[in-house]
Amino acid sequence: MTRNKNITILGSTGSIGQSALEVVRHVEGLKVIAISGRSNLSKLVEQALEFKPRYLVAADELMAENFEFPDLGETEVLVGEAQLDFIASLDEVDIVLAAIVGVAGLPSAWAAVESGKTIALANKEALVVAGHLMTDSANRSGATILPVDSEHSAVFQALKAGSPEEVNRIVLTASGGPFRDWDANLMESVTVDQALAHPTWDMGQKITIDSATMMNKSLEVIEAKWLFGVPASKIEVVIHPQSIVHSLVEFVDGSTIAQMSPPDMMLPIQYAFTYPDRVVGPCPKLDLGQPMSLDFYPPDTTKFPALELGFEVAKFGGSSGAVLNAVNEEAVAAFLNQKIKFTDITTVCRNILDQHNFEPFPTMPQLIAADQWARQEISKWMNA
Ligand code: NAD
Ligand code: MG
Repeated sequence: MTRNKNITILGSTGSIGQSALEVVRHVEGLKVIAISGRSNLSKLVEQALEFKPRYLVAADELMAENFEFPDLGETEVLVGEAQLDFIASLDEVDIVLAAIVGVAGLPSAWAAVESGKTIALANKEALVVAGHLMTDSANRSGATILPVDSEHSAVFQALKAGSPEEVNRIVLTASGGPFRDWDANLMESVTVDQALAHPTWDMGQKITIDSATMMNKSLEVIEAKWLFGVPASKIEVVIHPQSIVHSLVEFVDGSTIAQMSPPDMMLPIQYAFTYPDRVVGPCPKLDLGQPMSLDFYPPDTTKFPALELGFEVAKFGGSSGAVLNAVNEEAVAAFLNQKIKFTDITTVCRNILDQHNFEPFPTMPQLIAADQWARQEISKWMNA
């Protein structure tokens, strides 16, 4: 049992959204007030019938028009993107789980921050694109941003062992993805199916490709900078194939605190929902009765050049995150549609990032313009 919490789940039909609902099924005191989805409206209806939220938002108007909603009783059906902002800022809601994928999740995450909610943040792209605006806004509105990304949840938990001045560095672990042990020469020939076969995590398509290029870790370096207020120079990445140690914090005296659990997103989601309490839930526990080895080694930045981009963007900030994120989103979609090669994803991110007109303190409209410019550039490159 935890304190009673009313929750909005943005992106309830996705991988994180479904894990979140499994947590709600097991933890008393959590009540779902609103859910949203874009394409899988049958799943959304199924969820509404089970959880009986006050609101269901179908984000895509065209898809909603072509779908026959059954009678959902107490649940009101709302249609369109603007309704995401509405359910992210309802008075009766305590916690907003931001689990939409990509920059599409930024406006609703922003609405939640602006209205002073506790945001359980899975949508790392919101911080990559607009970290400075999100954190400034949270400071003004009194909103709290709690990490759901497993590495950041681990860091958040480990940081409790000391004060901010006592932190020496933050070490983010990475599984290394499906190509960890591949020969660098073979990376050009990677197929979509190979890239979608992640060894330790079962996730949505976009983040699975990001994990294969290691762009995901780059985005997480930027995310860590904003969540914990640390410079890029204090963040490191280590390969840890077992995905048991979710990240580590090294303190100035040489003590390193790690957080360990089986690779399952329900735990970081539950921790954000019940924080500051810890309660019994559906999450699996480590079986220490079996032999287990934990390996750690440095990443191969030649084979995974995407890794450098995150450190660069974390250092420079400004409009660079919006550009990197937009090109990456378009490049991942193009790779999934077999329009570009796997290695092109990182190459085109690097090239367009280098060409962009850097703005150090962009406003939201300037970030949107940088995002649009970057998408036009990759489209020109693909059509050249
Ligand atoms: P997913 O593709 O499984 O689900 C995405 C959700 O967003 C769905 O509910 C979908 O309907 C909704 N959505 C997609 N496009 C939309 C749009 N344009 N407007 C409104 N709604 C839209 O993705 P996921 O794997 O659950 O990831 C969600 C977020 O969580 C991502 O930012 C990802 O980086 C982050 N994350 C995921 C995991 C994981 O294990 N899946 C782990 C850490 C972080
Ligand atoms: Mg992660």
